[in-house]
Amino acid sequence: MMSTQKFQIPEWAFEFHGHACPFMPIGYRMGTLALQKLGIEKCKDHELHVFSEMGIGHPQGCMQDGIMASTGATFGKGMIEKLFYGKVAAIFWHPDRMGAYRIFLRNEFQDKLAPHEFFAYRKKGIEPSQIPAEVGQDIIDIVLNATNDELFDITYLPNFEYKPIKGSFAKAKCEVCGEYTFERYLKVKEGKKVCISCAEHEPSEKVFYHAYISNPKK
Ligand SMILES: [Zn+2]
Ligand SMILES: [Zn+2]
Repeated sequence: MMSTQKFQIPEWAFEFHGHACPFMPIGYRMGTLALQKLGIEKCKDHELHVFSEMGIGHPQGCMQDGIMASTGATFGKGMIEKLFYGKVAAIFWHPDRMGAYRIFLRNEFQDKLAPHEFFAYRKKGIEPSQIPAEVGQDIIDIVLNATNDELFDITYLPNFEYKPIKGSFAKAKCEVCGEYTFERYLKVKEGKKVCISCAEHEPSEKVFYHAYISNPKK
């Protein structure tokens, strides 16, 4: 039953993620497999782009930290974004490769994990860091001992195309609040170039990032 070799995840990835849970390791393995499929190394700069199909309000999002850790496609470098489909899947695209790969965590494996004691704790509202360490380790070992075939369904998407947004350092001061704003995000309001916050609110309101919180993409 056991695969020949237990998958290894560096300790720093758990430290970065903050707790011991099964979904960060699933993401780490998914990212590792994507690099193999694309025939590339972990990205140092901005080549790879990941489209996570996860949404909000379901706890498997930890997977995305694992993907970032193994691929180097980090949020900060603008290499990962969410599609809000509510699925445990991601698409991996690299500019030097034709198409892209979509990797989905198999229904069968999701069903295999679901009855584990770890999720009994989670359903009672207990956070992963408060779950007994041996329970966390046991479910992580199930992930690390599984084969790629048991875990993932991989689809090659030959027609997948993506045009990365061209990076720009161009910025200007918002004519209301005076803060530097990257030009892509300046709006015109009453003939003035203003930031999103000032475009949508009166200067006295100071409601930042309202636009992002209330309108997640789709
Ligand atoms: Zn987690
Ligand atoms: Zn402003």
